[in-house]
Amino acid sequence: MFEFTAEQIALRDSTERFAQAELNDEILKNDADGTFARAAWQRCAKIGLLGMPIPAVYGGSPTDAVTTMVALEALGYGCRDNGLIFSLNAHLWAGASPIVKFGTEAQRERYLPAMCAGEIIAAHGMSEPGSGSDAFALSTTAVRRGDRYLINGSKTFITNAPVADVFLVFATSDRKRGFAGVSAFLIDRDTPGLRVGEAITKMGLRTSPMSEVYFDDCEVPAANLLGPEGAGAAIFNWTMERERSFILAPALGTMRRDLERCIAYARSRKQFGRSISANQAVSHRLVDMKLRLDSSWLLLYRLGRTIDSGRPTGLEAALAKLSVSENFVQSGLDAIQVHGAYGYTAEYEVERDLRDALAGRLYSGTSEIQRNLAARHLGLH
Ligand SMILES: Cc1cc2nc3c(=O)[nH]c(=O)nc-3n(C[C@H](O)[C@H](O)[C@H](O)COP(=O)(O)OP(=O)(O)OC[C@H]3O[C@@H](n4cnc5c(N)ncnc54)[C@H](O)[C@@H]3O)c2cc1C
Repeated sequence: MFEFTAEQIALRDSTERFAQAELNDEILKNDADGTFARAAWQRCAKIGLLGMPIPAVYGGSPTDAVTTMVALEALGYGCRDNGLIFSLNAHLWAGASPIVKFGTEAQRERYLPAMCAGEIIAAHGMSEPGSGSDAFALSTTAVRRGDRYLINGSKTFITNAPVADVFLVFATSDRKRGFAGVSAFLIDRDTPGLRVGEAITKMGLRTSPMSEVYFDDCEVPAANLLGPEGAGAAIFNWTMERERSFILAPALGTMRRDLERCIAYARSRKQFGRSISANQAVSHRLVDMKLRLDSSWLLLYRLGRTIDSGRPTGLEAALAKLSVSENFVQSGLDAIQVHGAYGYTAEYEVERDLRDALAGRLYSGTSEIQRNLAARHLGLH
């Protein structure tokens, strides 16, 4: 069922080699300083990684879901900068993909070629100080004035905001209508009334910039509405399912890399006159890491197959996101334990993977929300 084609294997190998050679400059320093690797972003654009969900007519290099997951897993294996990969995924799935799916021809032509080329970076603005998991309780408003909308409010935790050129922003025209009052807008960074706040300091994914975004009588042409007025909820739900399907594919590669390092370390590290791997407590931990990696891998590629078959993926996407994110965290904890105090140091780089992994339980819907979604699909509530 999961035999890859020769082309997919070649893509995996070349992406791993590219990522290892081109995307790991100054990773310890960038993590410490919270620096976004702009030059690495451009290198990703050059080899087509920013064009994966974008049709060729707009400069993209579209692939099916399984092939995309193969490339992302390889990226996670070769690139040790999880923040860069996270920013790239946010751009692809929460920025470019909804424009491909819901954009007008003019919007696609305006944004997609530049997004593929690395010239325009996208950010997605839904979360607000008062609405996170309960996303449709948002209070940012959009009031129509002739051929424009006036946007007022603020968004928080916006990935890429400090470096973004365009924001996909959700706002309500009528709070009483709940999700039916929500619309989506493409707002350029230089639009008067839009202000990007100070960068938010985070425990992990520190190379992926994040900030608040404020809208103060921000005038947006009606032509920047994405989809029809009132379609914001459908666009957001589609986008989140897409994002949660792909955003953790690189974590499979990171977990595989960490497991290989742990096995090599456990074999070479000697205590009490023998390798620590000779202790069952250590070898069982490594087996459990492998088991969690493989079970997440199977769930994710099952999801990829389901996407490619055109069948609904609500349950599969929630389960895969839940499994990979939780296993990524446990894998990070295990990697530190196997490395002892060395694992607790920045130099050994496994502590960073744990800090980065913890965010996976929160973004694109928390683990609790994934369980709620799965429960709904099982007919429980
Ligand atoms: C690294 C990172 C990047 C992000 N990037 C973006 C971005 O680009 N754009 C954007 O719009 N947002 C972004 N977010 C925000 C993210 O979408 C929210 O953090 C998420 O939706 C949860 O909202 P919250 O943090 O306000 O938590 P809350 O919703 O306040 O939840 C707090 C706790 O309560 C639990 N909880 C809440 N409701 C329920 C329920 N009904 N059942 C069970 N448990 C519940 C949650 O699971 C959580 O454990 C990002 C977050 C992170 C960490």
